[in-house]
Amino acid sequence: MIVGRFAPSPTGPLHIGSLVAAVGSYAMARQEGGRWLVRMEDLDTPRVIPGCSEDILRTLESLGFEWDGEVVRQSERGEAYQEALDRLITSGAAYPCGCSRAEIARASTAPHDGDGETVYPGICRNGLPAGKSARAWRVRGSEALICFDDLILGPQRFHLPSLCGDFVIKRSDGLFAYQLAVVVDDALQGVNQVVRGADLLSSTPRQLHLLDLLRFSVPDYAHLPLVTGPGGEKLSKRDNTVSLALGDRIHQTGVRLIHKALAFLGQNPPLSMLSAAPGELLAWGVAHFDVDAVRSRQSGPLHDTACS
Ligand code: GLU
Repeated sequence: MIVGRFAPSPTGPLHIGSLVAAVGSYAMARQEGGRWLVRMEDLDTPRVIPGCSEDILRTLESLGFEWDGEVVRQSERGEAYQEALDRLITSGAAYPCGCSRAEIARASTAPHDGDGETVYPGICRNGLPAGKSARAWRVRGSEALICFDDLILGPQRFHLPSLCGDFVIKRSDGLFAYQLAVVVDDALQGVNQVVRGADLLSSTPRQLHLLDLLRFSVPDYAHLPLVTGPGGEKLSKRDNTVSLALGDRIHQTGVRLIHKALAFLGQNPPLSMLSAAPGELLAWGVAHFDVDAVRSRQSGPLHDTACS
């Protein structure tokens, strides 16, 4: 059985791009009669905004999403992440790193990857140099190409040493890194289909590498086109929230949002359904979801529905 998931970070209200990921992951899991989980990625505690998790869940609910089981919160899962880190340390795959960002930037000659992250030049790879103390934990990258077949983007190949080098799995502020947490959670929750925005495509080879080191099974991946601003620029969270703390208008606004998200994913939701409840349109999306139509779409702005 397919087990999909939606994993928002409560660092702001639901973003229009996240809504597209929610719709895509929901439709792809439910269409196959699969389960759909919601996981709150509230790991980066300094960036979490109080009240956002609840707002996101309420918004999803009012849009007609129904998730299976309890919502898992990453902030409560430190033990599982520590256990995975311990396994990586024991096998020699993880090592302590004493470098500051500035030091890494000075020592690195490699280009930045898509996340604006500097490629780690391996300073602490063979042991902490004299005078340095451990700040973070990194995992050794592998030389081998990491290949996978994305359900939407097709065959992908990445080379970790050119993408990011050895990457951080526990940060210098003591927090576990997203890459480790997501892999542990997806594996322990039995997630076998990861559908998310294409902004996370370059995270996938890192996650595949960790899955391999931890001997976890590998899910299918589908990276959806990204919602951008009119000029192709990254959307700012602030301007594109879809928090449905919108009182009475929830019904009308919600159905238009689902309509826009489905149309953005190349689907052809009937305009006549704009008078339906958001959940009814979502159910239409599940029944009619066509992955081939998503493949023909590219990242870009999200257009308004024709009706008001
Ligand atoms: N929490 C991440 C985000 O909101 C998504 C992580 C994922 O889907 O793997 O961007």
